[in-house]
Amino acid sequence: MPSLTRKDRELVGAAEAAVRRHYWPGRTRLASALRTRSGKTYIGLAIHTSVDRCSLCAEAAAVACAMAAGERELESIATVKYFPQQDAVLVVPPCGICRELLNDFGRVWVIYRANGQLKKDLCARLLPTPYASGKELDTPDPPQQPNATDGRGGLATSITRP
Ligand SMILES: [Zn+2]
Repeated sequence: MPSLTRKDRELVGAAEAAVRRHYWPGRTRLASALRTRSGKTYIGLAIHTSVDRCSLCAEAAAVACAMAAGERELESIATVKYFPQQDAVLVVPPCGICRELLNDFGRVWVIYRANGQLKKDLCARLLPTPYASGKELDTPDPPQQPNATDGRGGLATSITRP
Protein backbone atom coordinates (compact mmCIF):
# COMPACT_ATOMS: atom_id res chain seq x y z
CA MET A 1 0.00 0.00 0.00
CA PRO A 2 1.65 3.26 -1.09
CA SER A 3 2.09 6.15 1.27
CA LEU A 4 0.34 9.45 0.70
CA THR A 5 2.01 11.97 -1.58
CA ARG A 6 1.91 15.74 -1.34
CA LYS A 7 -0.80 15.75 -4.03
CA ASP A 8 -2.85 13.28 -1.97
CA ARG A 9 -2.66 15.58 1.05
CA GLU A 10 -3.64 18.51 -1.16
CA LEU A 11 -6.70 16.51 -2.21
CA VAL A 12 -7.67 16.01 1.43
CA GLY A 13 -7.11 19.72 1.99
CA ALA A 14 -9.38 20.59 -0.95
CA ALA A 15 -12.14 18.37 0.45
CA GLU A 16 -11.73 19.92 3.90
CA ALA A 17 -11.85 23.46 2.54
CA ALA A 18 -15.00 22.60 0.58
CA VAL A 19 -16.85 21.02 3.50
CA ARG A 20 -15.98 23.94 5.77
CA ARG A 21 -17.07 26.45 3.12
CA HIS A 22 -20.31 24.70 2.21
CA TYR A 23 -21.38 23.09 5.49
CA TRP A 24 -25.16 23.33 5.71
CA PRO A 25 -26.76 21.80 8.81
CA GLY A 26 -29.12 19.01 7.84
CA ARG A 27 -28.21 19.36 4.16
CA THR A 28 -24.51 18.67 3.73
CA ARG A 29 -21.56 17.81 5.93
CA LEU A 30 -19.48 15.68 3.56
CA ALA A 31 -17.33 16.73 0.63
CA SER A 32 -15.24 14.79 -1.84
CA ALA A 33 -12.28 16.06 -3.82
CA LEU A 34 -11.69 14.05 -6.97
CA ARG A 35 -8.56 14.40 -9.08
CA THR A 36 -8.74 13.27 -12.68
CA ARG A 37 -5.86 12.08 -14.87
CA SER A 38 -5.82 15.54 -16.47
CA GLY A 39 -4.68 16.86 -13.08
CA LYS A 40 -7.82 18.85 -12.32
CA THR A 41 -9.71 18.56 -9.05
CA TYR A 42 -13.48 18.46 -8.79
CA ILE A 43 -15.52 18.90 -5.64
CA GLY A 44 -18.70 17.05 -4.81
CA LEU A 45 -20.97 17.62 -1.85
CA ALA A 46 -23.21 15.06 -0.22
CA ILE A 47 -26.86 16.04 -0.27
CA HIS A 48 -28.91 14.87 2.69
CA THR A 49 -32.68 14.79 2.28
CA SER A 50 -35.57 14.02 4.60
CA VAL A 51 -36.09 10.82 2.61
CA ASP A 52 -32.83 8.95 3.16
CA ARG A 53 -32.86 7.07 -0.13
CA CYS A 54 -33.08 10.37 -2.02
CA SER A 55 -29.77 11.48 -0.55
CA LEU A 56 -26.63 11.68 -2.66
CA CYS A 57 -23.07 10.79 -1.70
CA ALA A 58 -20.29 13.33 -2.16
CA GLU A 59 -18.29 10.87 -4.26
CA ALA A 60 -21.11 10.50 -6.80
CA ALA A 61 -21.53 14.28 -6.96
CA ALA A 62 -17.79 14.72 -7.60
CA VAL A 63 -17.81 12.12 -10.38
CA ALA A 64 -20.81 13.85 -11.98
CA CYS A 65 -19.06 17.25 -11.81
CA ALA A 66 -15.96 15.79 -13.46
CA MET A 67 -18.01 14.16 -16.21
CA ALA A 68 -19.93 17.38 -16.81
CA ALA A 69 -16.57 19.06 -17.44
CA GLY A 70 -15.72 16.42 -20.05
CA GLU A 71 -13.46 14.29 -17.88
CA ARG A 72 -13.39 10.54 -18.43
CA GLU A 73 -10.46 9.22 -16.40
CA LEU A 74 -10.51 9.38 -12.63
CA GLU A 75 -7.32 9.18 -10.58
CA SER A 76 -7.81 9.74 -6.84
CA ILE A 77 -10.54 10.72 -4.43
CA ALA A 78 -10.72 11.81 -0.80
CA THR A 79 -13.89 12.40 1.20
CA VAL A 80 -14.21 14.23 4.49
CA LYS A 81 -16.98 14.61 7.03
CA TYR A 82 -17.44 17.71 9.16
CA PHE A 83 -18.29 17.51 12.87
CA PRO A 84 -19.57 20.97 13.82
CA GLN A 85 -19.66 20.40 17.61
CA GLN A 86 -15.90 19.84 17.61
CA ASP A 87 -15.20 21.94 14.50
CA ALA A 88 -13.33 18.86 13.29
CA VAL A 89 -13.00 17.09 9.96
CA LEU A 90 -12.34 13.39 9.44
CA VAL A 91 -11.39 11.59 6.25
CA VAL A 92 -13.91 8.80 5.67
CA PRO A 93 -13.87 5.81 3.35
CA PRO A 94 -16.47 5.59 0.57
CA CYS A 95 -19.63 3.61 1.22
CA GLY A 96 -20.17 0.33 -0.61
CA ILE A 97 -22.27 1.91 -3.35
CA CYS A 98 -19.59 4.52 -4.03
CA ARG A 99 -16.93 1.80 -4.12
CA GLU A 100 -18.95 0.16 -6.88
CA LEU A 101 -19.31 3.51 -8.65
CA LEU A 102 -15.62 4.37 -8.49
CA ASN A 103 -14.50 0.84 -9.36
CA ASP A 104 -16.56 1.04 -12.54
CA PHE A 105 -14.14 3.73 -13.79
CA GLY A 106 -11.08 1.47 -13.55
CA ARG A 107 -8.00 2.21 -11.44
CA VAL A 108 -9.08 4.85 -8.94
CA TRP A 109 -7.05 5.53 -5.80
CA VAL A 110 -9.01 6.11 -2.61
CA ILE A 111 -7.61 8.04 0.32
CA TYR A 112 -9.31 6.91 3.50
CA ARG A 113 -8.83 6.63 7.24
CA ALA A 114 -8.53 3.33 9.03
CA ASN A 115 -7.35 2.70 12.58
CA GLY A 116 -6.82 6.42 12.98
CA GLN A 117 -4.39 6.71 10.07
CA LEU A 118 -4.69 8.02 6.56
CA LYS A 119 -4.19 5.35 3.93
CA LYS A 120 -4.35 5.07 0.18
CA ASP A 121 -5.33 2.09 -1.91
CA LEU A 122 -6.92 1.19 -5.19
CA CYS A 123 -10.69 1.14 -4.99
CA ALA A 124 -10.66 -2.39 -6.42
CA ARG A 125 -8.80 -3.58 -3.32
CA LEU A 126 -11.47 -2.01 -1.10
CA LEU A 127 -14.09 -3.93 -3.07
CA PRO A 128 -12.84 -7.51 -3.28
CA THR A 129 -16.01 -8.90 -4.86
CA PRO A 130 -17.60 -6.22 -7.04
CA TYR A 131 -21.04 -6.63 -8.52
CA ALA A 132 -20.97 -8.70 -11.70
CA SER A 133 -23.87 -8.07 -14.03
CA GLY A 134 -23.35 -11.17 -16.16
CA LYS A 135 -23.35 -8.96 -19.24
CA GLU A 136 -21.18 -11.48 -21.05
CA LEU A 137 -24.26 -13.72 -21.17
CA ASP A 138 -26.62 -10.97 -22.32
CA THR A 139 -27.99 -11.12 -25.83
CA PRO A 140 -29.21 -8.01 -27.63
CA ASP A 141 -32.89 -7.22 -27.13
CA PRO A 142 -35.04 -8.54 -29.98
CA PRO A 143 -36.37 -5.92 -32.39
CA GLN A 144 -39.62 -4.31 -31.33
CA GLN A 145 -42.81 -5.44 -32.99
CA PRO A 146 -44.56 -2.14 -33.65
CA ASN A 147 -48.32 -2.23 -33.64
CA ALA A 148 -48.53 0.99 -35.54
CA THR A 149 -45.96 2.11 -38.04
CA ASP A 150 -45.17 5.27 -39.86
CA GLY A 151 -44.81 3.39 -43.14
CA ARG A 152 -41.03 3.27 -42.83
CA GLY A 153 -40.89 0.55 -40.22
CA GLY A 154 -40.78 2.85 -37.21
CA LEU A 155 -43.35 3.52 -34.60
CA ALA A 156 -45.92 6.10 -35.54
CA THR A 157 -45.69 9.17 -33.40
CA SER A 158 -47.52 12.39 -33.32
CA ILE A 159 -46.64 15.57 -31.58
CA THR A 160 -49.40 17.95 -30.70
CA ARG A 161 -48.39 21.53 -30.44
CA PRO A 162 -50.56 24.18 -28.83
ZN1 LIG B 1 -21.42 6.64 -1.00
